Amino acid sequence: MSTIVCKFGGSSLADARQILKVKDIIESDANRRFIVVSAPGKREKSDQKVTDLLYLCHEHAKRGMTYDNIFDLIEQRYLQIVEDLKLDLDFKPQLDEVRGRIANEGPDYTASRGEALNGMIIAALLGVDFIDPADVIYFDANGRFDPENTQIAVAKRLTEHERAVIPGFYGSMPDGRVKTFSRGGSDVTGAIIARGGAAKVYENWTDVSGLLMADPRIIDQPNPIATVTYKELRELAYMGASVLHDEAIFPVRQAGIPVNIRNTNAPDDAGTMIVPNDRLDEPPTTAITGIAGRKDFTIIALEKALMNAELGYGRKLLEVFEDHGINFEHVPSGIDTISVVVADDELDGKLEDVLEDIRAICKPDHLEVHRHIALIATVGRGMAHHPGMAARLFGALGAAAINIRMIDQGSSELNIICGVEADDFEKAVSAIYYAFVEG
Ligand code: ASP
Repeated sequence: MSTIVCKFGGSSLADARQILKVKDIIESDANRRFIVVSAPGKREKSDQKVTDLLYLCHEHAKRGMTYDNIFDLIEQRYLQIVEDLKLDLDFKPQLDEVRGRIANEGPDYTASRGEALNGMIIAALLGVDFIDPADVIYFDANGRFDPENTQIAVAKRLTEHERAVIPGFYGSMPDGRVKTFSRGGSDVTGAIIARGGAAKVYENWTDVSGLLMADPRIIDQPNPIATVTYKELRELAYMGASVLHDEAIFPVRQAGIPVNIRNTNAPDDAGTMIVPNDRLDEPPTTAITGIAGRKDFTIIALEKALMNAELGYGRKLLEVFEDHGINFEHVPSGIDTISVVVADDELDGKLEDVLEDIRAICKPDHLEVHRHIALIATVGRGMAHHPGMAARLFGALGAAAINIRMIDQGSSELNIICGVEADDFEKAVSAIYYAFVEG
């Protein structure tokens, strides 16, 4: 059987109307056997997520304050869902138990009940088994996720069920206490279940039809990305595109399972396929896959006559950054010049000391600092080994009269990064986008 693991996010499960859409999606394909659920999310912009309310309950309990009126809101939401779904389920005892335990439990137990309670409801609605992730997803005594033992337990447990609902976001520690992943962690659970169940695909259902080629706040209705490789995704995410968390990608990436980002509100849209590099049957149809970028970088540029002949110069320079505990992003260099590109938050309060050390240790002829730099990554496996791609990109920036402060092409030719003045950022993204995509 070609198992599909589906994870539905909070907006897909915010109320009974959304949950019924989810039911239709699951029941339209018999391969959708294992369903990972988030807690109910926002019904509209000003609404509150159940998880946020639960954390608020915990904050009150910790200070010895009553949290009953906050829990009332949570209780109403679940009881409303059960009623609207017309389920024959007496849910009050479950809610009472959680309400009582919050007073003596830590934040992880409390927060995890959002998915636990939702999972019980969805399992009842679908008429399938419920698997408590505390039984199969393990953290060590220090709270670190234990992938090996989890994989063994999940794989074994899934063979015992034809179909099941598994709440996302949490597992347990050796002493049995509940432990959650970081916020948004149901994505991670979905990936773990997909791996344990040797799924043919991990469907991640949310409220958008996949990833977009560029930030929609900059480009009006950018094209969706049909297929992206894990490697490209990493480049895009690193440069600020908001996609699945790295942690969520890891288990499925390791197992070579593709992830399909889908839209619960538009289930016929194909969404975005995130695929392992070597499973790409079709060559990309577009030259670039996506554009992402971030502001707030600084370039520290050095010039020194005959630098290229001086052994160990680069090392000495980078050691200065290392000694100050600063991570660098790029080190573009020329014959007698070398620059270090650093994110501003890394430099916080340290710039003057770093410059002083560079002057003392590297003795540059000239030292310049360019602040307010934005980096833009143009990513695409379709660019590799294709002449003319860089020309098209830089030609577009030139035509838009944008000065390029830095260029870095990754050795995989998957990615061209350029640095521009922060004020030119939006204009530059737009120029690059329309250089490759018809407007
Ligand atoms: N409910 C949790 C959160 O809001 C986990 C998740 O939805 O992925 O962070």
